[in-house]
Amino acid sequence: MARKTYSGPVVGVSFDGDVCQHAAECVRGMPAVFDVDRRPWIDPGQADTESSAEALRQVIGRCPSGALEVVEH
Ligand code: SF4
Repeated sequence: MARKTYSGPVVGVSFDGDVCQHAAECVRGMPAVFDVDRRPWIDPGQADTESSAEALRQVIGRCPSGALEVVEH
């Protein structure tokens, strides 16, 4: 799987499933954005304020594998 980008109103998220270690830091950290039961499972539109986008940046910063990256506009 190649890296995919999910755009959002404040920040976007890119994800590479080949490097994800399924540590679930993302799902635990921000379940509204990262929901494995939803397609697409990443929805940056759930972080639609500057404060929620900052929380999203911090959750992505805790991804241990580098699978997740913030896409700043
Ligand atoms: S935090 Fe990173 S490594 Fe863990 S499940 Fe999410 S994307 Fe994968």
